[in-house]
Amino acid sequence: MPTHKIIVAIDGLSSCGKSTLARELAAQLGYNYIDSGAMYRAITLYFLRNNVDLSDPAEVINAIANINLSFVFNERRNASDIYLNDENAEPYIRDMLVSEKVSEVAALREVRSFAVAQQKRMGRRKGIVMDGRDIGTTVFPDAELKLYMTADPEIRVMRRFQELYAVNHEISLDEVRNNLELRDYIDSTREESPLHRAADAILIDNSNLTREEQLKQVLALVNERIQTTDKQH
Ligand code: C5P
Repeated sequence: MPTHKIIVAIDGLSSCGKSTLARELAAQLGYNYIDSGAMYRAITLYFLRNNVDLSDPAEVINAIANINLSFVFNERRNASDIYLNDENAEPYIRDMLVSEKVSEVAALREVRSFAVAQQKRMGRRKGIVMDGRDIGTTVFPDAELKLYMTADPEIRVMRRFQELYAVNHEISLDEVRNNLELRDYIDSTREESPLHRAADAILIDNSNLTREEQLKQVLALVNERIQTTDKQH
């Protein structure tokens, strides 16, 4: 009997370990992992480089028309790198300059409809794990499995700080804390698809879970959903 592929939608606040879980889950399942945040970050990189005025909708629409985003699998990272108009943007999109602007850019209606349309297309054949802020609510409202991740705020700050400090010793804890607080605030209060837990999303607080424990829990949920989907077909 064929096993049906499903869509796993993972949402939550910044630095909750969504992408770590999504990447490991996709590898275990042989699914595609798509980091939707990378798309908003790559668009922000383009806007910064081209001095796009965010308050001018015509300029924003024009800029978007010149952006092509694609994902190319990178075996070394076991995940896909995002390409911005044929350039691998991965080395630049986690910069503080991008992090400081991304939530403002991601709140723009034109930007969201561009990114969401591409994300929906990527899920057409299922077999996908996507993480972000509106995946279970807007991009894949019919996803077979929706997770909403959360973790203690100070644990999130420390995790992100350690990640960033590894590549940039200039970074301070306060800078990281301020950025997470600001992004969470903008992401949760914006008009277009604000971050919120979908009614049918399973809440996972990973403050005190190891990566292995978390993966095991979620794999059990995925297998349960695959079985249910198989029975329905
Ligand atoms: O996931 P990550 O923290 O890299 O996302 C960067 C930013 O992109 C978020 O703070 C949010 O503003 C935006 N984002 C979004 N919707 C998504 C994914 C990310 O608005 N689905």
